[in-house]
Amino acid sequence: MGKILVVGSSNTDMVIKAPELPRPGETVLGGEFFSFAGGKGANQAVAAAKLGGDVIFLAKVGDDELGKNAIQSFQKLGIDTSLIRSAKGLHSGVALILIDGNGENSISVASGANNSFTLADIDSIDEVLGQTEFVLVQLEIPIPMVEYLVEKCSEKGVKVILNPAPAAKLSLSCLAALNIITPNETEAEMLTGVKVSDEKSAEKAAHVLLESGVENVIITLGAKGSFFLNRVEKGLVPAFSVQALDTTAAGDTFNGALAVALAEGQSLKDSILFANRAASISVTRMGAQDSQPFRHEIIL
Ligand code: ADP
Repeated sequence: MGKILVVGSSNTDMVIKAPELPRPGETVLGGEFFSFAGGKGANQAVAAAKLGGDVIFLAKVGDDELGKNAIQSFQKLGIDTSLIRSAKGLHSGVALILIDGNGENSISVASGANNSFTLADIDSIDEVLGQTEFVLVQLEIPIPMVEYLVEKCSEKGVKVILNPAPAAKLSLSCLAALNIITPNETEAEMLTGVKVSDEKSAEKAAHVLLESGVENVIITLGAKGSFFLNRVEKGLVPAFSVQALDTTAAGDTFNGALAVALAEGQSLKDSILFANRAASISVTRMGAQDSQPFRHEIIL
């Protein structure tokens, strides 16, 4: 099985569930507090590791307890943390999430160390890239660093899966160097200008991305599944029918799982099926990393 290098963010999500969201200047008592590990990079690295992937994670954490705890939790799951750097004088990424009685939320993110990626951090993976099958990256670290990473991988012939989340514009040269891009409906619209809501519109948007030079386009469509397109094949891989409880990190689980199946040598279509299955399990449970399945739970 090939090695998967995940490059991206690591956050701690601090959640207060209270009867109401406070208005500016107001204090609302009576809430419950939860703390979860999060960040798209970490979620995808954990998803891949739980499914049996050989995962190494490049991330920046702060010079604090949150960062140390995050590294320990990655190690417990067998993730190679030797590339994780602690940024002196910076705090680890934190998301403060307030949720009211109707499930409405209000989120504030302090990216902290996630924003401190430098060209030198990306250059530090040169040796690891030689043993890497797939690089998996998202957009919660500075975009110029993502573009530099993609360029480097392209020069070295390492395949990149880019999950363009949160939605942002990317240079044409970056798109042209990708093996796989995996936007959801909103992100596909942002990248192509095509409003995506079903298989037909997903195909239209996927064509725009293919014309930009991406080798394989996969647009995830929530409960409808995932549409894929390349120069030789296309199709909708339907989602598994489940009772969804919490769709947080569905996309992250999908991407981590996709990388594992591809690194095992499965075909693109089979890998998407595997990823749909893993993501469908994650939506039946609360939370992000806690909701992600282990390998033995995947029954196709
Ligand atoms: P994101 O979380 O990035 O918005 P999606 O909502 O498109 O991504 O979900 C990613 C994948 O998770 C889908 O392609 C599908 O396989 C799975 N999924 C999401 N929501 C559901 C659902 N309600 N039922 C079954 N599978 C789901």
